[in-house]
Amino acid sequence: MHPSTVAVTAGRPTHFPDAPLNPPITMASTYVATGDVEYGRYGNPTWTAFEQALGALEGGRTLAFPSGMAAASMIIDLVGQGSSIVAPRHAYQGCLVALGDAESRGRIKSHLVDVTDTAAVIATMKDDEDVAILWLESPTNPALELADISALAKAAHDLGIQVVVDNTFATPLRQKPLELGADIVLHSATKYIAGHSDVQMGTLTFKDEQTYAAVKSRRDLTGSTPGPFETWLALRGLRTLHVRLDRAEQNARVLAERLAEHPAVDEVRYPGFGAIVAPVLPSADAADVAVRSTTLWVHATSLGGVESMLERRRRWKTESATIPEGLIRLSVGIEDVEDLWDDLEHALNRSLKPAR
Ligand SMILES: *Cc1c(COP(=O)(O)O)cnc(C)c1O
Repeated sequence: MHPSTVAVTAGRPTHFPDAPLNPPITMASTYVATGDVEYGRYGNPTWTAFEQALGALEGGRTLAFPSGMAAASMIIDLVGQGSSIVAPRHAYQGCLVALGDAESRGRIKSHLVDVTDTAAVIATMKDDEDVAILWLESPTNPALELADISALAKAAHDLGIQVVVDNTFATPLRQKPLELGADIVLHSATKYIAGHSDVQMGTLTFKDEQTYAAVKSRRDLTGSTPGPFETWLALRGLRTLHVRLDRAEQNARVLAERLAEHPAVDEVRYPGFGAIVAPVLPSADAADVAVRSTTLWVHATSLGGVESMLERRRRWKTESATIPEGLIRLSVGIEDVEDLWDDLEHALNRSLKPAR
């Protein structure tokens, strides 16, 4: 079946008479003994429905976590003491901070690479025999660079290295990393999958049963488990992912074209799909004026919701110093594109005037 049909139907309760069309929110910390679940930390029917739905879209077995960072931490936790992780120099800053933290505690080593330079990434993997994980993000947040996942996964596997792809920006509707050769797909389901800026949720999807089982037992032991209500909201969001993403992407394409023509903008980054666009303004000041001058676009961190949001990424001290000071990350929502452009154009015009 097509992905949009899968998004609407996967994980539905089976068709016995009077089965609810949607999985109920199962609020239970324990289960009657001798069944499959036994205790609330080990499983929940609402998680199962959501995990089946996302797993069907990504083409693997999914586990849900209480946030994207909980999922990311699980990966860092999984590698042996003293292992190395090769990761993008531009990536979600929380993941980079978590890798740096694990490194500072002597748990791992990390090598940050330019994921667009396939040869350099492969050379880095070959240089250190302790590399256990190649961590990719594509497109990267917020630089919007693309990695050649197939070529890198092939090279990684030749060296016995597992490949994790953070697929938050692309979603399984635009990129299926497991089909491209990756072993694990990571999502901040907080973003496009839940899609309404009202849920924190993360996922990992596995190609092989062994890694799935290892991480499932880590989740059981660490108690890194999502709430049933949040999981239900994430599944409800997933049901409309295709229509939200189609509309947001349509808007993003129009805005990327118009931004490229605007005199306040030096450069526009847009990978050609998805709904994140990053115009680069000449300075931090110009970008700050622009983000403070919108009324429809919400000045906020985060992305992937139905509402359009923007921020200057370098306002965060932890953001990579090689991201331009004037880069604004636009998370394009599903509002009318003409209203979005009017507000953005006004803000960009303001940024052209000298600050008072
Ligand atoms: C937001 C984000 C994360 C972290 O997810 P949370 O749900 O905020 O913990 C990880 N990766 C990417 C690409 C993100 O945008």
